[in-house]
Amino acid sequence: MPILQKAPGFHPNNPFSLSVSPDKEKCFLRVLCELEQSGREKMMKFLTDRTLGKLAKGLRMLGYDTLYDRGEDTHRLYHIAREENRVILTRNTRLLTKRPEDKIIFVKEDRPLFQLKELILNGLLSMSDKNLFSRCLLCNATLGKAAPKEVEGKVPDFVFYQHQEFFRCPECRRIYWPGSHQENMRKMVEQLFR
Ligand SMILES: [Zn+2]
Repeated sequence: MPILQKAPGFHPNNPFSLSVSPDKEKCFLRVLCELEQSGREKMMKFLTDRTLGKLAKGLRMLGYDTLYDRGEDTHRLYHIAREENRVILTRNTRLLTKRPEDKIIFVKEDRPLFQLKELILNGLLSMSDKNLFSRCLLCNATLGKAAPKEVEGKVPDFVFYQHQEFFRCPECRRIYWPGSHQENMRKMVEQLFR
């Protein structure tokens, strides 16, 4: 099956809960297939349920448009995913695909970094410098550039004087800057993709 071979790093022995049911296997293959057809430059959009809040932050760090729904209303979850063409990520193996358009991926690992690695190994994520750190980790919005004078007094002085480049979330107004913290995260991400 060429789609599986093309997916980088795909581990045939480590697919997402493929042993659980043929339906889930079919769904997983459909997601991969869509990814291949839409091209890697068009990034997949995700919706994580209440079991995967920290994974949502990791995906946003990579630049993936990821909503986090902490509620227990699964109808709402399906509704959002269908309306916005999002892939649902969950650890809840009772969640089933109800319509052909439902795309649900079951994550096995329980720690966020391992969960990211699991998605990477299964060929669902890619890393790009353009997208890395492009979203607010808290609210998923795409960050915009902020001029230094706009952030003066809003970041610590030592940060303000050491950096020329700042970004701001248009929703929560949180300010980000490329510092040592981001550099450490980048190294961690690079290791994950190795
Ligand atoms: Zn924000």
